[in-house]
Amino acid sequence: MSALTKLTLKGALDGLAAKDFTSVELTQAHIDAVEAARGLNAYILETPEKALEMAAASDARRAKGEAGVLDGAPLGVKDLFCTKGVRTTACSKILENFVPGYESTVTSNLWRDGAVMLGKLNLDQFAMGSSNETSYFGPVTNPWRGKGSNKALTPGGSSGGSAAAVAADLCLGATATDTGGSIRQPAAFTGTVGIKPTYGRCSRWGVVAFASSLDQAGPIAKTVEDAALLLNSMSGHDEKDSTSLDIAVPDFTQFVGKSVKGLRIGVPKEYRVDGMPAEIEKLWQDGIAWLKDAGCEIVEISLPHTKYALPAYYIVAPAEASSNLARYDGMRFGLREDGANLTEIYENTRASGFGDEVKRRILIGTYVLSAGYYDAYYLKALKVRRRIAEDFDNAWTKVDAILTPTAPSAAFGLGENSNDPIAMYLNDVFTVTTNLAGLPGLSLPAGLDANGLPLGLQIIGKPLDEGTVFSVAGAIEKAAGFTAKADKWW
Ligand code: GLN
Repeated sequence: MSALTKLTLKGALDGLAAKDFTSVELTQAHIDAVEAARGLNAYILETPEKALEMAAASDARRAKGEAGVLDGAPLGVKDLFCTKGVRTTACSKILENFVPGYESTVTSNLWRDGAVMLGKLNLDQFAMGSSNETSYFGPVTNPWRGKGSNKALTPGGSSGGSAAAVAADLCLGATATDTGGSIRQPAAFTGTVGIKPTYGRCSRWGVVAFASSLDQAGPIAKTVEDAALLLNSMSGHDEKDSTSLDIAVPDFTQFVGKSVKGLRIGVPKEYRVDGMPAEIEKLWQDGIAWLKDAGCEIVEISLPHTKYALPAYYIVAPAEASSNLARYDGMRFGLREDGANLTEIYENTRASGFGDEVKRRILIGTYVLSAGYYDAYYLKALKVRRRIAEDFDNAWTKVDAILTPTAPSAAFGLGENSNDPIAMYLNDVFTVTTNLAGLPGLSLPAGLDANGLPLGLQIIGKPLDEGTVFSVAGAIEKAAGFTAKADKWW
């Protein structure tokens, strides 16, 4: 049955529709694969009984001719999405035993369309990190290894579990979230496809909040088409999230495979950073050449405020995080540590419940919001954010989409950057700009480096123009012909 886990989501849905196999068979094959891959630490909670129950219900629906668009497809869920009656931790100790009484809108949409839940996936604690090493449940190991090496590599973060699970065929697709790159950088590190849609496309309701003005949900998938299928289901207006857009969701799959002839593709000169490996520059040039061949016009553009994006992000995101995480006080839900009085209970609970990176963000965030520093840091960062958005607004007068590398390196070793927060933050240099500007960004695998590790290209689109992003991604996917998979060692 292991062949069933090798299918793409589209392939599996076609097989289910053709009655080649049942959802119970497909789901069981994935449950077996998940059990055999525990060494990767991608799933922090397996829900096989629930999965088989959902799969049987799906088979019954299909037998009655009532199958939904994702009916019977087993998926993984980043443990930042609240799942009713199923423990949701944000990979923190403070929520170690939290069982939500409600379901996030995004996961509700997937179940509405018939998808099956295999379990909850590991992530950086509260989605803060770029390597999955800040998880209370320990890091995820990337299924990919360098040529002839046993060294354990990071799958990236914060959606490391989602990316690793998709790359290792432990689900047909996964939910993920992206505040500064957490869908796209892990996708790039694991040879998978990930899209962060326009801010407001997917409801944030029931997603544990990190930085609310930047957080967006999106899928990690095996192919561009699979990502479009998943995003179709995850998107849509939700009155429970006031920032969710009340706007029609086009069928994103219609854009995959569409001609890109005549599209103008911007190449921003500021994304050529010092110390970037030559192989990433080469991959970028390959991407440019493929799009030229497909009939695109390549336009050199300038996004002059790019160099301020990372510092602005690392002020805005912690500021919002410090405010959002104030709710974990030991009173309402999650962990409570004893203390002699209320203040001591707060202090003890937060001191023991939050990991070091989360504490660092709360400290930075509180500092930049404090009287006396608010104008100098937070307000300044908001002004920079506006400038970055304006850079993109100007670019859209000249181009239809923008092509960049996704991350400044391939996957690095576990432990390699974990003692140097700045080195870790530099991972997000190409991804945070789209979060600050609210734009859609997609990463897809486009080649391997000399060490045999996958590298990703990023396509950035106009607000609400995920369609063009999918078309460009489809063209690159076709030209790159990336079919490499990690050798199975786990
Ligand atoms: N790596 C970034 C951070 O640590 C982005 C995380 C995210 O997108 N959730 O903040």
